[in-house]
Amino acid sequence: MVTARTPLMAGNWKMNFNHLQSIAFVQKLAWTLKDVQHDFEQVEVAVFPPFTDIRSVQTIIQADKLELEYGAQDLSQHDSGAYTGDISGEFIRTLGARYALVGHSERRTIHGEDDEICRAKVNAALRHELVPVLCVGESLEEREASANPADVSIKQLKAGLADVTPGTEIVIAYEPVWAIGTGQVATAEQAQEVCAALRGALAEQLGEETAAATRILYGGSVKPGNVASIMREPDIDGALIGGASLSIEDFSSIIRYRS
Ligand code: PGA
Repeated sequence: MVTARTPLMAGNWKMNFNHLQSIAFVQKLAWTLKDVQHDFEQVEVAVFPPFTDIRSVQTIIQADKLELEYGAQDLSQHDSGAYTGDISGEFIRTLGARYALVGHSERRTIHGEDDEICRAKVNAALRHELVPVLCVGESLEEREASANPADVSIKQLKAGLADVTPGTEIVIAYEPVWAIGTGQVATAEQAQEVCAALRGALAEQLGEETAAATRILYGGSVKPGNVASIMREPDIDGALIGGASLSIEDFSSIIRYRS
């Protein structure tokens, strides 16, 4: 269990970069971040490449002893067997990954993954010692239709974590669907409001101690120009970055949000 909430800057590459491009990117990123590499107590950096790149990312990180974490963008809820196209958490863990995203809004909408599937995937990640990064967030229609903007996210969080026990390391990513890839970032206050409500829901479900130790990220059009104000909010412990994580310049200046 993590005790301090070290900020986590997580780059979700989505379906971008083949394995050769991923090697070049990780090398350049590490070179650009040389001066913060020794300072992982201040900020943790993770990349989420496509499955086919993970082995290459592992090799380069190990060979160059880089202080970068990595994870998968998804995983199967099953461990092995007749599930054509699925990737087991065991395979991902064997590649040295630390994290697995679960329930990204693109998985929920494009692949029809509902809360039950997310719950099963959270459990699968934990079975294989991966830290699940459970993504939650409301669509614009849901935001407009509900009295409390946190309702949808709280429901998704409670369902996804239904079998998780207190003290388990998990990460939550609040990603309002209307802010993903649209350039329309939530204001720092809007993001804080929902993240604080999510921490409250975590406390109800897993106890105060786990809630206080769990990192809650914001995601949705995070850019170098808006990251500092988002990171100033007390319940936001990092960012899940899509588009801007594909640019060395943007991703590294997001990681250096303090300077
Ligand atoms: P974006 O994506 O930063 O491009 O909005 C965030 C995400 O989908 O995780």
